[in-house]
Amino acid sequence: MRLCSHWFWVILPLLFLAPNILNAQYQKAPPDFGGAYNFPTPQHPEPGADWMRILDVGLLAIALGISAWFVYKKRDRKGVILLSIGSVAYFGFYRKGCICSIGAIQNIVLCLTDSHYIMSISAMAIFFLPLIAALFFGRVYCGGVCPLGALQDLVVVRPAKVPQKLDRALRWLQFVYLGIAVIFAGWGLQMKLGAWHIKLGQRFLICDWDPFIPIFRRSGPMYMVAIGIAFVAAGMFIGRPYCRWLCPYGGILSILSRVAWKNVSITPDKELDCGMCADSCPCGAIVECRADRAFCMACTRCYEDCPRQKRLIALQAGPKKPVATAIAPLRPWEAVVRTLVGPAVGLVIVLSLGTLLATYIVQKYAAPRDKALVESLKEKSKTDAEAQKILKPEWDRQHRTAVVRRILYNRIGTTLLISAAILIFWMRRFRPKQGTGAGLPPNLLRIIEKPPPRRPTPKRPGTASIHAPHNLQ
Ligand code: SF4
Ligand code: SF4
Repeated sequence: MRLCSHWFWVILPLLFLAPNILNAQYQKAPPDFGGAYNFPTPQHPEPGADWMRILDVGLLAIALGISAWFVYKKRDRKGVILLSIGSVAYFGFYRKGCICSIGAIQNIVLCLTDSHYIMSISAMAIFFLPLIAALFFGRVYCGGVCPLGALQDLVVVRPAKVPQKLDRALRWLQFVYLGIAVIFAGWGLQMKLGAWHIKLGQRFLICDWDPFIPIFRRSGPMYMVAIGIAFVAAGMFIGRPYCRWLCPYGGILSILSRVAWKNVSITPDKELDCGMCADSCPCGAIVECRADRAFCMACTRCYEDCPRQKRLIALQAGPKKPVATAIAPLRPWEAVVRTLVGPAVGLVIVLSLGTLLATYIVQKYAAPRDKALVESLKEKSKTDAEAQKILKPEWDRQHRTAVVRRILYNRIGTTLLISAAILIFWMRRFRPKQGTGAGLPPNLLRIIEKPPPRRPTPKRPGTASIHAPHNLQ
């Protein structure tokens, strides 16, 4: 009965919104062009030229299905990782992160507030599909489909534990951000504070401040590039900071996933309550040995720490092969290579960042000596052909500099991305284990070598035996 009432409150607003949104697709009051002008009849389905957007919707629907299959049926973390890589490659880098479900919030708001705004069916589908999926399977969109979340999930290296109270308090930010984004998309901001009259026009705040767009497009204003890099760097040591605390769409998904038909269950069948998974969630979504319905991102990391899941995989894989327990020594050249790859790539990253920063500073602050003259001629050149002639070489120079800068940003951005991917791979898989590195002084080696894995801290020792999976068939 309780579940039914939950569904009622979710479906009611959707039913209410749907006709309004569909109505707003086309201009309600077309402009009067006079004469015998006939307005073209709207076409359904969308024109062939928009096949790419239709493909996006199709791929999104398929990816949601695959994500749910990996999370609930296969219980396969490797599958989710592959899906994440595919999503980052297609929705992120190839489609340049636009249009995404997160940004579509603003299109929906504008559609509802401005009858002249036209929104395509494909954009609506991109907004609604993950929400519908969340009603059935929780946040499978966040698990491996959303390019922003997938990127953050792929870069996690050693997530720190954020104090629970702070974590819960910061989660409210996503709803505050959602409210502000809705106000700006629908109406803009006009306020009178004493003598101050604040007037900010309508804008798509979520898109303007999306930290990952400059990464996907490998271009953008310098401050956004810096914010993007900061989020990726922070994401290596804090699980999905944007998803947990800022993403407005994540806020909506967290509400819907509370009433979802299915949610992540850390154990494949019977709950053990052994506490082995307590530290495995980078997002702090495990509460008392259970995945929190609202905040679990369906990333499936915790499956890997569940002894019952391990037993299930072992049963599926067949008889056990003998496992070598001692750390095998590396060959001398291998030890040197595995030690030096990380620092070398780190150096490339620092140099690339330095070059980016230097280019920006030169462009921003090294003003041309004749700047004052150029500025004075600019106005004149609108009407004066002589002034245009004088300015032509300067315009050509500015154009050439802009082209060079753009190429430079693009190449350095690509280098940074590849280096970051290699560095993350090295830190997670290729770094020499303790006592096996070579080629650097011992003090440096101690920092570079992989520390032994952290021992999980069982939360409730004795509540159940970790040997329980014997009966798992
Ligand atoms: S919380 Fe937002 S950014 Fe993160 S995966 Fe979900 S929709 Fe994407
Ligand atoms: S509880 Fe945490 S680790 Fe497990 S699937 Fe959810 S977000 Fe991932």
